[in-house]
Amino acid sequence: MRILVTGGAGFIGSHLIDRLMLEGHEVICLDNFYTGHKRNVLKWFDHPYFELIRHDVTEPIRLEVDQIYHLACPASPIHYQFNPVKTIKTNVIGTLNMLGLAKRVKARFLLASTSEIYGDPEIHPQTEDYRGNVNTIGIRSCYDEGKRVAETLAFDYHRQNDVQIRVARIFNTYGPRMLENDGRVVSNFVVQALNGAPLTIYGDGSQTRSFCYVSDLVEGLMRLMNGDHTGPVNLGNPEEYTILQLAQVVQQMVDAGKEIRFEPLPQDDPRRRKPDITRAQEWLGWQPTVPLREGLQSTIDDFRSRLNNADVPQVDRVPSY
Ligand code: NAD
Ligand code: UDP
Repeated sequence: MRILVTGGAGFIGSHLIDRLMLEGHEVICLDNFYTGHKRNVLKWFDHPYFELIRHDVTEPIRLEVDQIYHLACPASPIHYQFNPVKTIKTNVIGTLNMLGLAKRVKARFLLASTSEIYGDPEIHPQTEDYRGNVNTIGIRSCYDEGKRVAETLAFDYHRQNDVQIRVARIFNTYGPRMLENDGRVVSNFVVQALNGAPLTIYGDGSQTRSFCYVSDLVEGLMRLMNGDHTGPVNLGNPEEYTILQLAQVVQQMVDAGKEIRFEPLPQDDPRRRKPDITRAQEWLGWQPTVPLREGLQSTIDDFRSRLNNADVPQVDRVPSY
């Protein structure tokens, strides 16, 4: 198949592209390099089935493809809050453009939605039926509400124009290739621990998250895309940790000092988050397989090698294909 991955030079997108290329598909990676980087896909540059297009999804584009994985959107709060109006445009106009493309060429369209659409959830764990508790005017709204509109657009294109859609609600995902300045908790803690700096905990660290390793997530996305169910489907790891527990695990694994610096909790920071993955298990036969410590070890190794070679552009080894 010919497959378009928007946001393909980013963290999840580049891991997805590796899988798609290894399966022998023709892949078009489309990215504006806001939080993504060429080095994440550089190993495919000479491959005849790979194409990279620098393009912003808020502008229309004409391509001929069979499937579209629509991931373009910054995922880390510091990056999506840097230019919130642009984040909304990316989610709304960008998704509209990609759905328009899917409609024109009759491509199947998968939206990378998020657990953030549940906001600060009042039910726990979160099932797909839960409609969420989102502040429409807060600093996270550009992302949360943007993704909620993106879901609405996908379902309306499906009902009105018969576009085949798939909606994945992705929970916190981590792994190699996250940016060092990404700002999300796993990358912050790992970089801080490797640098011997105190770990920054926002609030008292009692808020919880559930962390899914990127290879598990990619497997879930591909099963959803190629299966028969529209969704929405939660994709995440149901093992729940407090942020304080996560800090302690990282410190233990890096053998760093035990220093922690408590900083103010950002506005609207969700108190708890844990996916109910019954639907993913039943519909896709999917569940995460990589335990936290194993995934963290690969992530720590990746950051360590990047931090040790800060002046040398880091390019992944070319996998065999
Ligand atoms: P990321 O920031 O690493 O990747 C996003 C990519 O999209 C980057 O390469 C960026 O340059 C590109 N991009 C951003 N705006 C664009 C635009 N207007 N036009 C073209 N490209 C653009 O983030 P990620 O963690 O890989 O997340 C990928 C997708 O998954 C996002 O849609 C995000 O909302 C969703 N998601 C991620 C998580 C997570 O924990 N990582 C959780 C929930 C949802
Ligand atoms: N967090 C933290 N220290 C950091 C970065 C994040 O304590 O250096 C907290 C943040 O306030 C939130 C949790 O960790 O409660 C997860 O944050 P992240 O930005 O990774 O994801 P999200 O809030 O979008 O789930």
